[in-house]
Amino acid sequence: MTSTSARPSQNVMRPEKDRFLARENPFEEMMSRFDDAAQRLGLEPNLYRILRTPEKQIIVACPVMRDNGEVEVYTGYRVIYNTSRGPAKGGIRFDMNVTLDEVKALAAWMTWKCAVVNLPFGGAKGGVICDPASMSNTEIERLTRRYTTGIIETLGPDSDVPAPDVNTNERVMAWVMDTYSMHKRHTVTAVVTGKPVAMGGSLGRREATGRGCMFVTREALKKLGRSAQGTRVAVQGFGNVGSIAAELMAKQGMTIVAVSDKSGGIYNPKGLDLAEVLAHVKANKVLQGYKGAEAITNEELLTLDCDVLVPAALENVITEENAPHIKARIICEGANGPTTAEADKILNDKGIFVIPDILANAGGVTVSYFEWVQDRGGYFWDEETVNQRLERIMVNSFDEVTAMAEKHKVDNRIGAYMLSIDRVAAVHRLRGMYA
Ligand code: GLU
Repeated sequence: MTSTSARPSQNVMRPEKDRFLARENPFEEMMSRFDDAAQRLGLEPNLYRILRTPEKQIIVACPVMRDNGEVEVYTGYRVIYNTSRGPAKGGIRFDMNVTLDEVKALAAWMTWKCAVVNLPFGGAKGGVICDPASMSNTEIERLTRRYTTGIIETLGPDSDVPAPDVNTNERVMAWVMDTYSMHKRHTVTAVVTGKPVAMGGSLGRREATGRGCMFVTREALKKLGRSAQGTRVAVQGFGNVGSIAAELMAKQGMTIVAVSDKSGGIYNPKGLDLAEVLAHVKANKVLQGYKGAEAITNEELLTLDCDVLVPAALENVITEENAPHIKARIICEGANGPTTAEADKILNDKGIFVIPDILANAGGVTVSYFEWVQDRGGYFWDEETVNQRLERIMVNSFDEVTAMAEKHKVDNRIGAYMLSIDRVAAVHRLRGMYA
């Protein structure tokens, strides 16, 4: 056998250089897990090479007229990772920390995420390097329209369907839909998901990611023989995912002891009054200054004495430095990529039950799928139907991931990767190699 036709060995798949890079490069960080799962699945080297590489990477310059009359040129990316199972699906983020490697990693994650919950989608992600907090609404609108126009060839209900992500929302999706539709000369609602309900959005989409986190946490508690009553939860990130997850978990009887946002965190071991916290955020935009609890840092929140930790903010917050001090029994990853590969090993040794991102936060893309189906069918479901169907998919997927992990004696993350890579690979085999 030549080296190219041999089964991938640990050496071939994880060169020392990549393991080093993994600490700094989000794509390599994701790939280190992919390699582990691919190795255990005995993935053929040819498929391994295909699945390790994004299908398409687009970089666009987005000139935008600032309100003061000056033109600023922003850089935007859209990475289509894999479309073997269906149209590419994944959000668009507006953030100063966006890099091509990050977008590549996030696009790959979307591929595995859609496959974990068995949606007929591939994976993609988009990002624009910008600081939306320092831009006016009209500047953000112009940027959105220019970026959409820049990547318009890839977009379409059958090819690539964006959604909200970090710092983008329903309003941004409405502009994407309008820009695309103006170019096509007719209204195409199914080109984006996470739109306002009035223009083809789905009921329950806004809450879907947080709701999905609640469902899988509830299942994890059941599996560990614990009751929701008295379970203490700390949530990092109080945006769309974290705040909804906290509210819905509280409704299940759990006690939310801490939440945080960019401005810092708040902690009350007896439980926070979420209605009051939300009212404070509505009035002040940030958690800072909330009087009914002790102020803590984001870092302190991660190692609090609690039962469930929900990192629902950004990547790489659980690291080899803080992982040894985490006291939670369950981690529900609301964010994409909150745990580094090094930290994973430590959490495993400590016996922490991790619900990995590609399962834990898949509720959002699941209801995006429902939205796309409703748009294409032109027939809309009531909220109860959306939530029931979401629950069924999240609970089934939780069971499938944990069964895979148990069968192969791996942690839940590798179990989730194995399940999803196997599904993507199966379709590639059926479709054949056009190579
Ligand atoms: N941005 C979300 C995610 O990371 C949603 C993607 C979508 O709905 O397409 O899963």
